[in-house]
Amino acid sequence: MDVIADEWRRDHSGDVVSPREVTREQLARVHDAAYLRRIGETAGISVALDSDTYTSPETYEVARLAAGAAIEGVERVLAGSHRRALVLVRPPGHHAERDRAMGFCFYNNVAIAAAHARALGAGRVAIVDYDVHHGNGTQHIFEQDPQVLYVSTHQYPFYPGTGAADEIGIGPGRGFTVNVPIEGGAGDEDYRLAFGGIVLPVLRQFRPALVLVSAGFDAHHRDPLGEMRLTTTAHTAMTMALREVADECCDGKIVVVTEGGYDLPTLADCLRGVTNALGIERGGAEWPAAGAIAPSRGRGAVAAARNALATCWAL
Ligand SMILES: [Zn+2]
Repeated sequence: MDVIADEWRRDHSGDVVSPREVTREQLARVHDAAYLRRIGETAGISVALDSDTYTSPETYEVARLAAGAAIEGVERVLAGSHRRALVLVRPPGHHAERDRAMGFCFYNNVAIAAAHARALGAGRVAIVDYDVHHGNGTQHIFEQDPQVLYVSTHQYPFYPGTGAADEIGIGPGRGFTVNVPIEGGAGDEDYRLAFGGIVLPVLRQFRPALVLVSAGFDAHHRDPLGEMRLTTTAHTAMTMALREVADECCDGKIVVVTEGGYDLPTLADCLRGVTNALGIERGGAEWPAAGAIAPSRGRGAVAAARNALATCWAL
């Protein structure tokens, strides 16, 4: 991530800033007080909070800086000093629930960012999550809120088990949770269909004042955890497509927050693609050429999401 930050500064004349720690007030918008106390108690020690979520002595401080970086990105973009921001952080956040650490996540960085944007006066905020895993925490935090749209493409069935097409939000939030569950093994063409058929049309109809992206790179074919087959080019294309929607809807305001991605050279390649998508002044999403394999997984995912959301969006 340091290498990518240096390249951003050098090749795109971009600003690179160190984050401040998130405040308790900012955390408390999306996490319970008892949970915040419990995470606070992990400062300086190693403890297992979940079967795959452990702290090191530094985790508490690093997680507070990660959430603070997401806050900083939102503040700069909403204030207009910058139009686009990439928040380069670990630990990731989208599995963190209001009251529970899960899946390597402690504080839900993107949810904290969305809640902060709302507190600063942003009307509608869209969160798009293309990590290979479903962002259960983000969905649950906002599933009753019609002002925060959550759209996820993810491998399904897969960890964490949530993210079926018929999970579309609750009460006033009905229709503002959009899940595009995709069978394992899907490739670029499947994701191109999912974006073109569901993700982008819903975003355009929602007309967000800010686009947030949960950018995980574990749907890449080289990732050791996910079973998808996306290329680096497809990750760039997804980011570029989201940036184009932000250009159309909200004067380009987009904040990309990193999530998973467990093959380090691939993570670097994908982040270079993202910085290119964010750094150039104009361009369009360029998907890889369609291969010989029919995108049946993508078609199935689009059909399921369309069916579940038929009364909510024109799809
Ligand atoms: Zn993931």
